[in-house]
Amino acid sequence: MTMQISLNFIKKIKDEFSIDLLDEKACRMAVLKMIHPKGAHCPQCGKAIASDKGISNFYELKRVFCKHCKKIFTALTGTALNGMQLDVRTFYLLAVFLALKIDRKEIARLLNIHTETVRLWELKFKAFEEIRDMNLQSISHDL
Ligand SMILES: [Zn+2]
Repeated sequence: MTMQISLNFIKKIKDEFSIDLLDEKACRMAVLKMIHPKGAHCPQCGKAIASDKGISNFYELKRVFCKHCKKIFTALTGTALNGMQLDVRTFYLLAVFLALKIDRKEIARLLNIHTETVRLWELKFKAFEEIRDMNLQSISHDL
């Protein structure tokens, strides 16, 4: 390949990039394992989820019922990601791109989201770093 062809190639790859190229389940599991290092548990009473159905619902982001305290929740309830509107693949890549210090506008274009969304998540990640725990309600925003 000449230099010209390879430059066209990588530009084309980038231009045709889509989150659909990523495995949704792999991204979801990576994010959930990161925010729940101790496994599936109730955000209200802290008890571990024991049933297979409960555990699978938890990791599929479906509703889980806690038989100890009767709370109904998802894996995002009580975490800083509660109410997140982004596709988990978009969220995952947003974190990667921010770590690579890619320009906000470029991230927004690549992920097809608003620049302001990128900026707000950048602030959120900085807040997580200060508290060293994503498992907090206090810093949730409506994104
Ligand atoms: Zn509970």
